[in-house]
Amino acid sequence: MARRQVSWSALVLGTSHGRRTRVSQSLLAMPPLLLIHALLVLAWRQGVLPGATVAWYVAVTLVGCVAFYAAVRSGLGERARVEPSLSAPQMVFAMLCTASAYALCGPYRSALLCLMPLILCFGIFALESRASRALANFGIVLMGGVMAALAAESPQSHPALVEAASWAFLATSMTMMQVLSDRLSRLRSRLTRQKNELSQALERIRLLATRDTLTGLLNRRAAMDELRRAAGQAARHERPLVVALVDLDRFKQINDGHGHQTGDRVLQAFADVAQRELRAEDCVSRWGGEEFLFILPDTSEDEACACLERVLAVCAEIIVDGLPTNWRIGFSAGVARCLGPADLEPAIERADRAMYRAKLAGRGRIHRAQPPETR
Ligand code: GH3
Ligand code: MG
Ligand code: MG
Repeated sequence: MARRQVSWSALVLGTSHGRRTRVSQSLLAMPPLLLIHALLVLAWRQGVLPGATVAWYVAVTLVGCVAFYAAVRSGLGERARVEPSLSAPQMVFAMLCTASAYALCGPYRSALLCLMPLILCFGIFALESRASRALANFGIVLMGGVMAALAAESPQSHPALVEAASWAFLATSMTMMQVLSDRLSRLRSRLTRQKNELSQALERIRLLATRDTLTGLLNRRAAMDELRRAAGQAARHERPLVVALVDLDRFKQINDGHGHQTGDRVLQAFADVAQRELRAEDCVSRWGGEEFLFILPDTSEDEACACLERVLAVCAEIIVDGLPTNWRIGFSAGVARCLGPADLEPAIERADRAMYRAKLAGRGRIHRAQPPETR
């Protein structure tokens, strides 16, 4: 039973949240329209107007409502890049329906006056204040014109003074409704702006929490999250996963001999090269100081070593401002296979030990870690 209800509502309103709200708002116009139809039928039964006029009115207004429903339901406004709920045209249509019903239903017409301010409420959520002001003015002028014409044409049934008093009350209440809607609209704009500022601030906090500010690489904490994710994925698909710890060689000499800023530039240049040389699915992160952790999914240890050799060769060609042009940036690296989600820290330790051996063996080289069982 519940599933059937959900599918019906999806059929009538659509599935996306924004569109469902817009379609249901469009359908809210139906109850007042049906009441107008009932009023016109009553007026017809009382001999105020011919049945054919009522039939025409009902047909035209229903076709209009169905057309607007179809336009909003199909996302026409979104595709045409106009205001997606099509509020302004729907409100103009509703005002024309109300004004014509006012002209048609003789002594029952006063019942229709309350609908005009109600129509303005439909624009509160979607329209800018300029548009809703224009619509309020349109409604006031439209009703003024209809009332003036009725008073001029049939002063017996539509005394000028009664029409003028009705118009004055209507114009006042529509203007006040407009002022209130204007305030709501400004509040809505402020809330939207604050929401945007908040999501920008959240994005900045997320960047600060996960990225290293100097190189833009993932920081150590985010790298561990990424490694956990990659290990889970590798285990699920039974694919190999390799981690590599990379430590720049004799980096302190750069800082001491050429300044800390030159050292920073070397770190940035290394990060750029590493990111350029790795595949999109690989990850390079700043592990700390001049150490970097590479996460290489779907990669064998041989392939990882070949990849690091390539990075090493490109690094040797880097020219950094502040360093002599014959300075070769190099690193030592340790490569270890990660054996599953329970082997994250042990794999990093194995890579670290292998990297240390590479240092001892003379630097500028890549060593494989010992498999865990033969340590
Ligand atoms: P090895 O070849 O054995 O790795 O020697 P090394 O000089 O590279 O290593 P060591 O650990 O002696 O020195 C690393 C230096 O990196 C020390 C530290 O001040 C420097 N360092 C750490 N973080 C930064 C940074 O963000 N910017 C700069 N410029 N230097 C940094
Ligand atoms: Mg180090
Ligand atoms: Mg070092």
